[in-house]
Amino acid sequence: MNSSSDNIADIARRVDAVEAAAMGQGLVRPGHLQQFTHKVEDEWTPAVGAAIVAHAWSNPAFKARLMKNGIAAAAELGATMPPHHRHLVVLENGENLHNLICCTLCSCTAYTVIGMPPDWYKDLEYRARVVRESRTVLREMGMALPESMEIRVWDTTADTRYMVLPYRPPHTAGWSEKQLAALVSKESMIGTARLEPPYLQPAHEQAKGA
Ligand code: FE
Repeated sequence: MNSSSDNIADIARRVDAVEAAAMGQGLVRPGHLQQFTHKVEDEWTPAVGAAIVAHAWSNPAFKARLMKNGIAAAAELGATMPPHHRHLVVLENGENLHNLICCTLCSCTAYTVIGMPPDWYKDLEYRARVVRESRTVLREMGMALPESMEIRVWDTTADTRYMVLPYRPPHTAGWSEKQLAALVSKESMIGTARLEPPYLQPAHEQAKGA
């Protein structure tokens, strides 16, 4: 048996081979891959989750529904989830409470709402360490949370998906939902980022170089 990696085709050629084999056996209907790519790139984006977050920050009644039944509340804004995502559990951050999601087994996320998982989310080291030393991992990723802030780590399962509801930055009082949504990143809905200073500086502070 030859274990040399020299004999392994590059990823693009392997993908082409798998696609050709699946098409050849009629397992993939024509156009399916293009449709799927469109969904991944244009529909399942963090903008969906950002709109949900902005609406929850602006509308207490919606937030209450979102915390009670994430899938039903997300559907009010047109967001859908695949049937095997049976629950969308929304985790609300507080001034001194931080939620963080991971999938220790593989790469599960509520991807139709917060977007596809980043490469680092699927990394074995992140998956293994984030549950044991979350504060250290977050610090290494650029966010040093004080010891006084409680961190809760949530391990995604096949049927239960999570989404972090970020803590609303105090300087956003009076902002429109559109302005608020523009502030919300995929990382803030995973929990590797927060949106309030000092973790994230307001744009006008960044412009001053503060
Ligand atoms: Fe997974």
